[in-house]
Amino acid sequence: MQRLTDTGRGAIVLPMDDAYAAMRTGTNWMNARGQNGTFYITPGLMNDVSTIKIVDQDLIDFHNAGHEIAAHSKTHANMSLITAAERTVEYDYPKTYLENLIGAGTVTTWAYPFGTGSSGRNLACDQQLYLGYDRWLDMAMTTNSVVYPRYSDTPPLLINRLAWSATNQAQILTLVRKAATSAVVVPILFHNLDTAVNPTRANVLEMLDLAVALGVPLITTQEAFPASRSLLNPGFENGLDGVDPTGRHAITAANGKCSVVTDTPAPEYQGTKALELSTTDNAGYAYIRQQVQFLPGRQDTFSGQCKAVSVSNAGNLIADKAFVRIQSLDYGQAVIAGLDVKMTPALGKDIGAGWKKFTLDFTAGQSTKTVNVDVGLQATVGGAVIRFDHLWFEPKYLGDLG
Ligand SMILES: [Zn+2]
Repeated sequence: MQRLTDTGRGAIVLPMDDAYAAMRTGTNWMNARGQNGTFYITPGLMNDVSTIKIVDQDLIDFHNAGHEIAAHSKTHANMSLITAAERTVEYDYPKTYLENLIGAGTVTTWAYPFGTGSSGRNLACDQQLYLGYDRWLDMAMTTNSVVYPRYSDTPPLLINRLAWSATNQAQILTLVRKAATSAVVVPILFHNLDTAVNPTRANVLEMLDLAVALGVPLITTQEAFPASRSLLNPGFENGLDGVDPTGRHAITAANGKCSVVTDTPAPEYQGTKALELSTTDNAGYAYIRQQVQFLPGRQDTFSGQCKAVSVSNAGNLIADKAFVRIQSLDYGQAVIAGLDVKMTPALGKDIGAGWKKFTLDFTAGQSTKTVNVDVGLQATVGGAVIRFDHLWFEPKYLGDLG
């Protein structure tokens, strides 16, 4: 199959949701035109021959043809109306099921069933989801734009998409034409063909052919919206990977230690690991630093979970020894005086009640080029052991999921 090459212009992201056999038709049409789509799969809706749904082999075929396979819950539940434990199953099952068919690490995108417009998503849903998938999709409400910059330093984590039906065909074609003349990416979706609230076959063929004629590629969701978390490994699931492109390091004194242990702030959170920092006396310190490229003036929220495990001198720890910190660095890598933001204590005033959430807002200066993002423990009289997990450092408009 011939691949469309990057033209530097716009693109369309065309997902199909649930498990309809129309996915086979859509795949054949896209394959014939060198286009790629994304299939958001609800395993609980598959394999029903009485209503003609896709089967496992279809997904293997779609994947082998270059299309993306993504997750759309286990049973098509309304995620905001079920318990956190029930959500865990809805989040985890499709990834496990689908990766068992097409390979570990391939399923990195999630689409909410129903979405915000049908009360199918809220902040608690996102917070529980965010370490499990690299991007998640919502349905666009009437006031939301679905036109995104195709090339961005901070691709969105939550992405709106426009539902396609026979009644908005003209709008769909207009968006394809827009993608032909500007570097935007437009996510569209449909479920089935020639049924209510879906496009007709003729609608879909008209759009696919227009895209080919104008040189607008159809690309996968993964390709359109690269994984864009600012922090690498923010749940410490991959250990203390010390050397990586983001400049992550563990920094310790002789009597301080960084390690990764089995713990989680909440059983329904994604992942099972946490960072542990320990010191044995008031000369010790231990902290984790990541450096993040930054745009001047950008405003971010840094948050996460912190817990005291053992403390010899609680007042000392509460005073200022457990900390989270953001430092601004200029183009020459020098720390810019006066722009540090430090929260002490990260644990709050009551260290005895398990995991605590911290939240810190940060606004970069006009010459900020890079920031150091630190979580740490320093110089505690008598020593201490604390843990961090579920870190979040993203533009403030994306909310606070730590
Ligand atoms: Zn659906």
